[in-house]
Amino acid sequence: MAKMLLSLLQKTIRKTADTPPVIDIEPGSPEWEAICRRCGECCFELVYDEDDTLVSSSMCEFLDPQTRQCTVYETRFEVCHDCIRLTGENLPRFDWLPQTCGYVVRFGLEGRRKVK
Ligand code: SF4
Ligand code: SF4
Repeated sequence: MAKMLLSLLQKTIRKTADTPPVIDIEPGSPEWEAICRRCGECCFELVYDEDDTLVSSSMCEFLDPQTRQCTVYETRFEVCHDCIRLTGENLPRFDWLPQTCGYVVRFGLEGRRKVK
C-alpha cells in the first residue's frame, strides 16, 4: 500500500513539474502591462561568469539610469532591436528573467537560474 501511495505521489509530482504554467492574460493588454513592475532588471545585457552564473553587464541605451525607466517604452520594439516582447509562449523559456520579475512571480516561474 505504502509503495502504491509513493508511486502515486511520484506521478503527481512529475505531472506538476511537467505541467506548463497557465498564462491566461493577453500579452500587451492593460492587465498584462500592469504585471510589469517597471524595475528595469531585464534591460541589462546578461553574460555568463566563470561559475556559469548569469551576471548583469551593460545597460540598454534607452534605460534611464536614475529612474530605471525605459525612455522609449511605447515604441521600444521599433527603436530597440534588442528589446524582446514577452509572450505567453516565450515567457516559460526565459530563465534569465529575475526571480523578482512581475511575470515570473505572477505565473509561478520561480526557481530558475538566479541572476547575480
Ligand atoms: S528599450 Fe527595451 S530593453 Fe531597452 S530600456 Fe526599454 S524596455 Fe528596456
Ligand atoms: S524584469 Fe520583469 S517586471 Fe522588471 S521591467 Fe522587466 S519585465 Fe518588467
